[in-house]
Amino acid sequence: MLKSCCFNYKKYKMSLLEKHIINSWLFYLVLLISLLLFQTETWAHAGPIKTDPNFIKATHLGHCEEMADTNLLQQYKWSDETALWQFEIINTPNNNRDIVFYLESPFYFESATQLPNSSSWQWYRTGDNQIDASWPASVAVYKLEPDLAVGDMIFVCNSAKLAHSIEAGIVDEHVLRKKVIEQVRAASLTEGTLFAMTIASLGLALLLRKQTFIMLTAGISMALLFVMVNNGSLIELPLGDYLLRDWHMQRFAGISSTILIGLGLARFLDFKSRHPQAWYVLLLFFGLIGIVLFLTIIPNPLRYVGISHISNALMIAIVIMTLGSAAVGVWKKHRPSIVLLLSWGPVLALTLWLGVSSYADTVWTSVARWLYPITLVYACSFLFIELARNISNALTQRDVARLHARTDFLTGAMTRGELDRRLTAFQANKINHGRDLALLFIDFDHFKKVNDTFGHAVGDAALVAAIDRIRSILRDDDCVGRYGGEEFVVMLEGTKAKSASEVAQRICKDIENAGEPIKHGLPPITVSIGVASYNPAEKDNMSSLIERADSALYLAKQNGRNQVVESKKSN
Ligand code: GH3
Ligand code: MG
Ligand code: MG
Repeated sequence: MLKSCCFNYKKYKMSLLEKHIINSWLFYLVLLISLLLFQTETWAHAGPIKTDPNFIKATHLGHCEEMADTNLLQQYKWSDETALWQFEIINTPNNNRDIVFYLESPFYFESATQLPNSSSWQWYRTGDNQIDASWPASVAVYKLEPDLAVGDMIFVCNSAKLAHSIEAGIVDEHVLRKKVIEQVRAASLTEGTLFAMTIASLGLALLLRKQTFIMLTAGISMALLFVMVNNGSLIELPLGDYLLRDWHMQRFAGISSTILIGLGLARFLDFKSRHPQAWYVLLLFFGLIGIVLFLTIIPNPLRYVGISHISNALMIAIVIMTLGSAAVGVWKKHRPSIVLLLSWGPVLALTLWLGVSSYADTVWTSVARWLYPITLVYACSFLFIELARNISNALTQRDVARLHARTDFLTGAMTRGELDRRLTAFQANKINHGRDLALLFIDFDHFKKVNDTFGHAVGDAALVAAIDRIRSILRDDDCVGRYGGEEFVVMLEGTKAKSASEVAQRICKDIENAGEPIKHGLPPITVSIGVASYNPAEKDNMSSLIERADSALYLAKQNGRNQVVESKKSN
């Protein structure tokens, strides 16, 4: 069933990433359709403030510009977006506990509240100026007088940005604590897990030394940090309160994620070579936004004024250039551009929308904020897939490199390095004490002449055929190593000198094969072999063993070739 829902990969030659993109889009389409069919209420929540009708009645009194002469708004310099809400108490929780009024939103918000019987406003800003630091940044909590009466009013001045999913209520403090703790734990765990995953991916990207991935994973980590600060989850962490107050973590994370993701995507799109002139403009924007970032983290008078507008404008420019480049790329069938638009397109489009709408807030802005973490996770999944693919490629390359380091490319015999390693291991291994070892040093006779007469290709084929033949004579545990050129060493573990000589004789005769060509179409060849065996009693070592086998080989050559000579010193 699941298989039939997926794309038919066999017909089209797609990369793993492209398959993942198609399936993800199908998945999200199904999710969106079911959301629209069964959860239309979710969309309806974007806008009005949600309250418990048993306790309070909320009324939106209007926006700042409509109410310039309202006493309530005069003492504060709010932006044009400021809205005033009136909450009328129609019932209070029926017990003696502490009663609180709360505002809750998963997004960044700021508000000032005037409680009943109070002439001053109390401020609340996410992660900043908190009334009671024991509450997470996503909720503003105001203690109410016990003599609170039905009909009393609470006024809230707020940015209209909190239109999405804001909740206000009057409850027992302990009821609210229970509810909030459960929510924060779930959110912190989810966000924390995702954050940990991106940090782990960053580690992998660093290990792979792939700059594009390093930038993208670091950028996503920063973007998640931005979401976490916005959601108020960070305030729960040790030092979270300090970081939010003094480092302006929200801006810092937002700006650095723009720089890192922007640079990563520009590299991914091959921006520099595809649009050389635009690349310098993009670099200029990155430079400027870097300066803004610097101004954000060091104390200076500009820190609070204008920085967000400048960084917003630069972010919009960078996103437009990236999306523009990707759109041109799609037109020209540039594959990375198509991949980028399908995977990072949603998060870039939302970033652009959020950037633009910060000048004109709408209900859709709230929806965009709500969708932002989802699209971020969506883009993240492609990053993970690409990382996994790169790691698998790197592992394959490592295996191939290892194989080449151990095996001779032409003959399939061990390399000299591997032969040395095995010989050293034999000597080092205490279990081998008393165990026999014999070496056959094999050299092809007049092989230069074979090459000169028949050509190197035929010489190669003759070498390969001869080594295959030698292998067929040996046991599975014996191994052949290429010592160099047309010289090979056979390592016979657990074999005494006598048996080793017999094996050598068999090899010699077999290859000579009564003067017949080793394989149809190949020249007749012969080998000379020197045999030496390991003698632990004489404090023999591997290099002296090879030397003795080599000397025996020299004698075999001197005696007329095509023969076996045993080293005299062997046991
Ligand atoms: P000898 O009997 O004294 O060993 O004579 P030789 O010609 O075999 O000795 P020499 O050391 O002068 O030449 C070895 C030749 O083996 C020269 C080199 O081109 C050839 N050779 C070494 N490795 C390869 C190889 O991988 N392929 C081919 N085709 N030839 C090789
Ligand atoms: Mg030779
Ligand atoms: Mg030689």
